[in-house]
Amino acid sequence: MAPVDDLPPLREVIRKHGLTPKKSLGQNFLHDLNLTARIARAAEPLENVTIVEIGPGPGGLTRALLTLGARRIVAVERDTRAIAALQEIAERYPGRLDIVEGDALKFDVRGQLGPERARIVANLPYNIGTVLLIGWLTAEPWPPWYDSMVLMFQREVAERIVAKVGDKAYGRLAVLAGWRTEAKILFDVAPQAFVPPPSITSSVVRLVPRAEPLPCDAVALQRVTEAAFGQRRKMLRQSLKSLGVDAAALLSDAGIEPTARAEEIDVEGFVTLARAFTAMR
Ligand code: SAM
Repeated sequence: MAPVDDLPPLREVIRKHGLTPKKSLGQNFLHDLNLTARIARAAEPLENVTIVEIGPGPGGLTRALLTLGARRIVAVERDTRAIAALQEIAERYPGRLDIVEGDALKFDVRGQLGPERARIVANLPYNIGTVLLIGWLTAEPWPPWYDSMVLMFQREVAERIVAKVGDKAYGRLAVLAGWRTEAKILFDVAPQAFVPPPSITSSVVRLVPRAEPLPCDAVALQRVTEAAFGQRRKMLRQSLKSLGVDAAALLSDAGIEPTARAEEIDVEGFVTLARAFTAMR
C-alpha cells in the first residue's frame, strides 16, 4: 500500500524521540499508518472539520487525519517526550496542527476552540478513557461542541457503551451514551497492532449526538444510574436509598416497580427516574 505521507515511518519517529511506551500514561502505540488511516476514515468527511485529538503520542492517527484533509487538529498530549515528534508533523502541515501540552482531563476546550464546533477522534489512554467519555456525554449546553466522536477503547468498554437493556454489558455507561448519542462499534483492532500489545482486543466506536435527547438533567441521570448500577443485583427500592431520598416514593413518582432491578430499566425509564429525582430535591 502507498505510504500515508512523506514523513518517516512511526517506528523511526518513536526511536528518534525516545518514546519508550509508559504504562502510567496508557501508552500502546499504533505503528501501522494504514491502520491509523482506517480509523481516520471512520471520521470522514474531514474537509473543513476541526478535530480534537486526545493523546496523539508519536502522531500516527494525527498524520492520517491531516492526510485525509482535516482542516485543523487540536492535539492534547501529556507526554513531553512526544511534543518534538508532533512539532515535526506541525511543520509538515503548516497552520493545521495545534499542539497542546497538558492533561486532557483539565483541557479547556472552549478556550481553545471558541464557538467553533469540532469532532473528537482519539485512540484514548485506557486509564482515563471512560472518565473523558462521561465528561463529553454530560457536556452542557446540548447539542455539544462536537458533532461526533470516533474513539478507540478496549473491546469490553466499547460493549458497555453500545449495550441495550437486557445485554450483559448494560450499565451506567450505556444509559448515558444511549440517552444522548447513537453509538456503534465500527470494527475491532487486534492486540498485535499495538506496541506494546495489550492483553485484550480494542474497538473503534462512533458516537453521534442526538439533536434532541429526552429532556433530563445530566447530573441527576448520573446520580441515579450510579446508585442503581452500584448495586445492580439489588432491587431499586434498596439500591436507590443511597441517593438520600425516599426511594419508594421516588420509584412510585417514576412509575417503576420497587422490586425492579437496574438492569431491567431502559434509557427512557432512567430518564423518568432522573426527572422524578430532580423534582424531589
Ligand atoms: N494516538 C497514539 C496512537 O494511536 O498510537 C497514542 C495512543 S496511546 C493509547 C494514548 C496516548 O494518550 C499516549 O500518547 C499518552 O501519552 C496520552 N495520554 C495519556 N494520558 C493523557 C492525559 N491525561 N492527557 C493527554 N494525553 C494523555
